[in-house]
Amino acid sequence: MNQVNQSFVERTQAVLGRPLCAGKVQVLQVNLGLLCNLSCQHCHVQAGPKREEMMSRSTLDQLVHLAQSRPPGLVDLTGGAPELHPLLQQFILALAPIPVQVRTNLTALLLPQAQGMAEFFAAHKVGLVASLPCYTEANVERQRGKGAFGDSIEALRLLNRLGYGVEENLSLQLIYNPGGPSLPPAQTKLEADYKTRLAQDFGVSFTKLACMTNMPIGKFQKRLVQDGKDLEYFQLLTHSYNQATLPQVMCRHQLHVSWDGTLHDCDFNYALGLTAQGPLTNLSQLSSLAELDLRPITTGNHCFGCTAGSGSSCGGALTG
Ligand code: SF4
Ligand code: SF4
Repeated sequence: MNQVNQSFVERTQAVLGRPLCAGKVQVLQVNLGLLCNLSCQHCHVQAGPKREEMMSRSTLDQLVHLAQSRPPGLVDLTGGAPELHPLLQQFILALAPIPVQVRTNLTALLLPQAQGMAEFFAAHKVGLVASLPCYTEANVERQRGKGAFGDSIEALRLLNRLGYGVEENLSLQLIYNPGGPSLPPAQTKLEADYKTRLAQDFGVSFTKLACMTNMPIGKFQKRLVQDGKDLEYFQLLTHSYNQATLPQVMCRHQLHVSWDGTLHDCDFNYALGLTAQGPLTNLSQLSSLAELDLRPITTGNHCFGCTAGSGSSCGGALTG
């Protein structure tokens, strides 16, 4: 069969000689809920201001026990906007000394409900990963809505004043994703462009840039279908399959826990309703992360989004 007509499962099996499996769980990624102050066009979890799903106190407590039983190298908090979870600070304090990183859309840091949050993050050396899909106003606002760019710059200036992106132990990583159905450009070159433009135009600095490929799921996939570009984009992803990315795809070293305690191999699988392969599919069944080391991964054709070109993950490109 022509390679490009093969499914992700078939192509990966042909390379590895077996289905994709996890190694040791090193990153515990937690989705605190779907409430978000923005409603971005590319949001794969369909978060927004009207979503009410939020992780409960008892699920947060279970996570603290789980993380303490065999501490992961990192707890990665995502949403929605994690800043809008009323127990966020308590949760971070309970996890100490495990390193924590928060994914922020920047603008949420300016909301009255998040007053003092940036200062709290700095005081507890929380790493920040901030989505900023471009260094120009027009491109950002096309994806994130009117006013999002100015607020993002204001939040970046606040973070810089606190030492983020300036001091070595206050990491501020920015995330780029393409505005449409194309692969991201080379990460190092784009990082240099971002650094120059943000410094020159706004006096803003950051630690590093990560490039993410838009996954063909959620709102982005809906838009592709509306524009008649879904097949073309899928072909781009399959033609760009890069087997060198396979050892690094994020499901191999991370576990994703959704707001209701369901276990997933990654947040894309969460968005698609694909749970981890049984028998352990809920946090309540788990006593140690070690139980999910070496598990088989649930894959599908959306996984071509992780293996195209230089590869893509929540931490950016996987190769080159
Ligand atoms: S900021 Fe993030 S979570 Fe919120 S709508 Fe945009 S992409 Fe989704
Ligand atoms: S989409 Fe998820 S399961 Fe598929 S390769 Fe990427 S990280 Fe792994």
